[in-house]
Amino acid sequence: MANKLIQNERFSFLDPEKLASHYDSIEFTKIEKNHDGSIIYRCCKCSLTFNVQNDMVLREPKGEHKSIDCIVILPVQIGCIKAYEN
Ligand SMILES: [Zn+2]
Repeated sequence: MANKLIQNERFSFLDPEKLASHYDSIEFTKIEKNHDGSIIYRCCKCSLTFNVQNDMVLREPKGEHKSIDCIVILPVQIGCIKAYEN
């Protein structure tokens, strides 16, 4: 259970349509949906990807972000986006 909580804090969607999400405070965008229903998200600025299924991280990003331009979202900004949703 504790493990689940940590995962939820590392990852969340940024909009109701789930077109954008963040992992470790870096912004990712949806690029593809797999046949198994999982969604592939890719970093906006480099090739790092991760998979999400049933709103949970199925496959974590492998490796480091390669660009200094990778968009870092501050936790306070994530809070703002979520507040805006509701
Ligand atoms: Zn990146």
